Amino acid sequence: MAVKYTVPRGTQDILPKDSYKWEYMEMVFRKVAKSYGYQEINTPVFEQTEVFERSAGDSTDIVQKEMYRFQDKKGRNFALRPEGTAPVIRSYIENNLGSEGHITKLFYIEAMFRYDRPQSGRSRQFSQFGCECIGTNHPYYDAENITVFWTYLKTLGLKNFVVEINSIGCSECSETYNTALKDYFKKFIFLPNNEISDLVCPDCQTRYDKNPKRLLDCKIPKCKEISKEAPSMLDYLDDKCKTHFSEVQKYLDILKVPYVINPKIVRGLDYYTQTAFEFINYNLGSQNALGGGGRYDGLIKQMGGKDTPAVGFAGGFSRLLLSLINENSFQGDCPRPKYYIVCANDSSANDENVSSKLTKALELLIFLRNKGIYAEFDIEKISLKAQLKNANRLKAHHVIIIGEEELAKNYLTLKNMNTGEQTTLDFDKIDEL
Ligand code: AMP
Repeated sequence: MAVKYTVPRGTQDILPKDSYKWEYMEMVFRKVAKSYGYQEINTPVFEQTEVFERSAGDSTDIVQKEMYRFQDKKGRNFALRPEGTAPVIRSYIENNLGSEGHITKLFYIEAMFRYDRPQSGRSRQFSQFGCECIGTNHPYYDAENITVFWTYLKTLGLKNFVVEINSIGCSECSETYNTALKDYFKKFIFLPNNEISDLVCPDCQTRYDKNPKRLLDCKIPKCKEISKEAPSMLDYLDDKCKTHFSEVQKYLDILKVPYVINPKIVRGLDYYTQTAFEFINYNLGSQNALGGGGRYDGLIKQMGGKDTPAVGFAGGFSRLLLSLINENSFQGDCPRPKYYIVCANDSSANDENVSSKLTKALELLIFLRNKGIYAEFDIEKISLKAQLKNANRLKAHHVIIIGEEELAKNYLTLKNMNTGEQTTLDFDKIDEL
């Protein structure tokens, strides 16, 4: 029986009809990130498992459930990259990128891998864009980092999204807040006889002990309902964190980035401190976060580097593309030939000029391609009709006709396929094409 191979569950082929869309989104991201002084970094697809365990935190879903882990032939433990920040920081430390004491701004466009339940907007391999600004805790850079993401979405032409910001405080105010949260959630976790209740989901029961802030992040309806009345982080910020947060807002106002404050935002990874933010498209259904990020001042030290503050974000291309297509905002152009060369080359038609026309067509084709112009010619399509049909199928901007008359008088006929307008051009002047 013939074997039928299929793409692994939760992954996808990006086919030619779509690949230009991804190329466009990546091109715009590179342009925007570079205009803010970010430089591209690429790290390997896999890292020592510890890079993620140390950074993301043991209690996170990514580390607990979603990592693709494997051992190499020498029994060393590796994992496919589930997120971009930890590898960038590993590289930052290893390559001493911050040695001159400057701010280091790095961006990436990379594939991530998470063993998660596939659904719309959630796959097992997905591509992320991200920006990390390392070496400063000035609140302006939190605002600037958010602005890069905002500018990117605006440049793409996306309309339906909101920026939500929060402060989750530093480790000190976090501790007070965690205690308040646990006080609040206690009655939902335990029954009066101290047995575990089922008012919250089993994951939330674990979060209660390991990372209470993540109780606010649960997507299960009954947990969401309970967390509505939970105390707000913003009431537990110390003076330093309060000032930092209001400065971030001040700079966002100056940079003209609209935002709303959402005290329920906690990021999925443990390493965040103070500013946390998300970009949400409420039309997207349950997987509605286009991306998010925040400040992670403790991570670099935690990973063995010098105590260095940083802020960064990551966003996902697939949800972004879905959003752009849904609201009809996608602006990238599908590649179309600028010129499609048409020449009657039927050698059976008793035409002694066939080979001269063909040579001319091929000379022109190579000339245009050497100039980097997308030009097409189909040597197998013999009749003019078939060639013109193909030019239409490919949505060529212009058709260049090389016929009897053109050959004899050494010129080309140029037809604009949009307007139907026809002009001629001397073959000696093809540089003007
Ligand atoms: P996170 O690193 O989880 O904050 O994710 C940042 C962004 O990456 C999300 O907002 C999504 O746009 C995208 N993303 C995360 N996980 C997935 C996934 N499993 N499939 C597709 N996109 C994802």
